[in-house]
Amino acid sequence: MIGKQSSIVLLATVFFLFSFINNSTELPQAREFVVVLDAGHGGHDPGNLGNGYLEKNIALSIVLEIGSVLEKNGVRVIYTRKDDTFVDLYKRGEIANKANADLFVSVHCDSHNSDAYGAGTFVLGLHANKQNFEVAKKENSVIYLEDNYENRYADYDINSAESVIGLTIMQEEFLDQSIQLGKLIQDNFTQSLKRKDRKVKQAGFIVLHQTFMPSVLVETGFLTNKNEGSYLNSKKGQQEMGKAIASAILKYKNGVDSSTIDLEPSTETEKTVTPSIADNSEKTEEVKKEREVNMPKAEEKKLANAPKIEKSAEPVAKSGDNSPSTTATAAAANITFKIQLMASSKQVPLKGDNFNGLNDLSREPYKNLYRYMYGNTPSYFKAKLLKENADLKGYTTSYIVAYKDGQRVPLAEALKYVGEQ
Ligand SMILES: [Zn+2]
Repeated sequence: MIGKQSSIVLLATVFFLFSFINNSTELPQAREFVVVLDAGHGGHDPGNLGNGYLEKNIALSIVLEIGSVLEKNGVRVIYTRKDDTFVDLYKRGEIANKANADLFVSVHCDSHNSDAYGAGTFVLGLHANKQNFEVAKKENSVIYLEDNYENRYADYDINSAESVIGLTIMQEEFLDQSIQLGKLIQDNFTQSLKRKDRKVKQAGFIVLHQTFMPSVLVETGFLTNKNEGSYLNSKKGQQEMGKAIASAILKYKNGVDSSTIDLEPSTETEKTVTPSIADNSEKTEEVKKEREVNMPKAEEKKLANAPKIEKSAEPVAKSGDNSPSTTATAAAANITFKIQLMASSKQVPLKGDNFNGLNDLSREPYKNLYRYMYGNTPSYFKAKLLKENADLKGYTTSYIVAYKDGQRVPLAEALKYVGEQ
């Protein structure tokens, strides 16, 4: 029988252990790594039909295998599709952007009218040669299966190799990281699985242009090749390819995690940084000039020392306090809106020249990246005008983001406080 005292000790021990377990489970959440997996094609778009195989089914099986390995390793996985449904190309990127994912990985199978075989990984860029262009063109042609594609993809001419030059601007910021992931994937394909190495290549894939994060498109092999087609259509092939991609993603994640830890500030340096950034579009010209000189310095200093995890990061702009309120409820709740133009691992100076002439720019650390925003207003109506302006300046994939008390909140939550919509 257990005495009263020892039961108290036991109880205390249980509480202690419980709080320990609780704390340790919170840690990975704070550093949550989010991967969006995109199985190419789906629904009424079967993809390529080499040797009678269905690209859409093979891509999905591989993606589900990648996802199950990643989930077992504490990665949060978001799928653009988990079953045989058709998803518009622009929606795939939108899903990744809304999730603020760390990586976007699209999985496909190739086809050719020769015996070509091998696996390759693409990042967005200029087609180095006609062959790369043809691969991108094939995958891009799915837009013709979407409703309203003429308007939605007005900027893209998928038949022109030159038209893609403009496409590279946004993903350029993530090119190093995308290539890094691509190399890890190719290493696994060639070293572990002895697949033929078609290397990391650049081409103008629309689906990669839509995302604000390191992004790759994997062509796992050629269904038109007899051996490779049958391998990719087999359970064994799909599991092996899925595991190889998943293990590359985990290697990439561990690399990012360790560099994030290196960049974390000591509490000592954090104390010395006291940025006070007023960001207000209604200010006088004189104040604007002063801000242009002072803000980047203060912000850069802060960012250099800022923690890379969003939860612990202070808001960069504490705004809306001094501006004339166009929406009483929004101002009372201290809601503001900005337009997110892009996210990047690089510190781009906040000058109009670097953002196609847009000004009123701000930047905030997010995970291992910086988010770049344009404008700052308590009015959702004005935010929509700012978004239109960003579109006109070429930031067609930008989107409205919301803040409450200077902290990023979901747009839907912010709109609850705003009468106008
Ligand atoms: Zn495809």
